[in-house]
Amino acid sequence: MPRIALLEEAVINKIAAGEVVERPSLVVKELVENAIDAGADIITIEIKDGGFQLIRVTDNGYGIEAEEVRNAFLRHATSKIRYAEDLQTVESLGFRGEALSSIAAVSQTEVITKTKEKLMGVRYVIEGGREQRMEAIGCPEGTTFLVRNLFFNTPARRKFMKTPQTEAGYIGDMIQYLALSHENICFKYIHNGQLKLQTSGNGNRKEAIYSIFGRDIAGNLCLVEEVQAIKDGFLHITGFCGKPVITRGNRNLEIYFVNGRYIKNNVITEAIEDAYRPYMMTRKYPFTALYLELPLYLVDINVHPSKLEAQFGNREAIYQLVEHAISHALSKKELIPEVFVEKKHSLEVFQEQKLMEEKQDIGILSEKDSFSDRSFFDGVPFIKEESETVALKPYQEELFEMPFLCKEAKKQHKIIGQLFSTYWLIEFHDKLFILDQHAAHEKVLYERNLAAFYKKEKLYSQLLIVPVIVSLSMTEQQILKENLSFLQKFGFEIEPFGGNEYAIHAVPADMMDLADQELFLEFLQALIKGQKTPEFILEKMAMISCKGAVKGKRELKKEEVIALLDELLTLKQPYHCPHGRPTIISISKYEIEKKFKRIV
Ligand code: ADP
Ligand code: MG
Repeated sequence: MPRIALLEEAVINKIAAGEVVERPSLVVKELVENAIDAGADIITIEIKDGGFQLIRVTDNGYGIEAEEVRNAFLRHATSKIRYAEDLQTVESLGFRGEALSSIAAVSQTEVITKTKEKLMGVRYVIEGGREQRMEAIGCPEGTTFLVRNLFFNTPARRKFMKTPQTEAGYIGDMIQYLALSHENICFKYIHNGQLKLQTSGNGNRKEAIYSIFGRDIAGNLCLVEEVQAIKDGFLHITGFCGKPVITRGNRNLEIYFVNGRYIKNNVITEAIEDAYRPYMMTRKYPFTALYLELPLYLVDINVHPSKLEAQFGNREAIYQLVEHAISHALSKKELIPEVFVEKKHSLEVFQEQKLMEEKQDIGILSEKDSFSDRSFFDGVPFIKEESETVALKPYQEELFEMPFLCKEAKKQHKIIGQLFSTYWLIEFHDKLFILDQHAAHEKVLYERNLAAFYKKEKLYSQLLIVPVIVSLSMTEQQILKENLSFLQKFGFEIEPFGGNEYAIHAVPADMMDLADQELFLEFLQALIKGQKTPEFILEKMAMISCKGAVKGKRELKKEEVIALLDELLTLKQPYHCPHGRPTIISISKYEIEKKFKRIV
């Protein structure tokens, strides 16, 4: 019988490393978080070969005392908490004291560190968890970690890793999140000698977004800000959400932070997607960079270190906060996408000047960036040269623009006529607006139907001249009985017809072209599967509205379009049909003139 023995510390650390630093990106995360906790405002990350060959993290934080360096590498050694109660109030990113011991157990690690008070720093080398060297060294204040040959002594783990390129991608994502949540820190990320990311650390979040994601995203943001009082404190959300023109086929850009940490959480994801639902096609996902500040007692941060999922108390309030803040931010903007006839005109100016203009366009010019030949008045850049004035004109006009969909503007709409029997051309100020009659009407019906549904009124229904007889299984009959009033609200009239048979007397209005029993049976199936969710209702409502709306390829009278516009401007979200397609797009006179070469 084998004897029971306590494992050696080095073995324990090696086992723990499998969880704490499962892959190179998590090593980077731990080292960068340590640098942040050490008060650094410049952090440089350099990796080679996806992090397997080398990970170097340099910071200008407060360093580690020479006599504490060894301790830092002990398991559960931390300077960040002392007692169990501290877990309730911990604000640092780390606190488990597991990272350094785990990293050192599975790599060749070297740390060079110096505190402000000391003249000399210290260099400590530890390989596979065993100390190799400890010596005094001259070095700047702060800390550099070098992690070489990660997983050199756990070949099995190394085998499970993706390619270095994929791992480098994970590391890049991780650094993006850390940079986005620490706009006061200047981050620099270099992979195989190439600069991959750099932020200025000047405290401007929008500028951080610009540095990381570029102009297309930074130029299409809505500001999010909301506070909500709950029983024992406040829930606070700030940040940005992308206009619905920014879409992705996956959730990678749904980014949010809770109390400064990048996390994943179903409640927040759901709230984001629900808020965007009226604007986005299905299976399209938005860009967000949201910062939630929640009372610490609501957030369970004591989760597994390598997992990003977090759990909350009071999920309902958190959902409401996020959903409402985004809906509100989106509804404040006139979300008519502007189309460009040709690729965006770029001015023939020096690279640096162009960068400046981009920053001005999106309002993120920082003090550091101002240069001498430009003067600023009330925060609006005033530029002397004529060509540059043109570039700034979108910028300035947007500030004073009257929305297309408002009562005041409507008096000035000049309806030109119908195009391809589907679209309506409307001139307004110096833009051409193009309205999709089907999408617009669909949205009007959708909001009307939804309002009626929620006010507990019945939707319009249409009597069938000859009732349709369906025979139902036992389960279907049971579900029908339980949901009769729900189905009536949608416009169905159903009565028993003897035995297993039921008669459908009426269906939701304008659904005649759908085989009547097909729609009804689809409803029943969904109800059997327990899908009586708000989502289900919205989806079915969208379907009913789509079928009911005036089709494309149909002549409409001008008066009908005027009436449609009248209705459209009463809606809260008139710019997208329920499936997320735009109802209106615009082209500027400037774009058209450029195409005719009136402007070069
Ligand atoms: P934790 O971060 O959970 O405390 P770690 O194993 O990551 O545990 O680090 C152990 C300790 O080493 C930290 O508590 C901190 O005191 C010290 N430390 C690690 N990295 C740095 C750094 N870059 N600058 C200053 N101190 C550091
Ligand atoms: Mg740590």
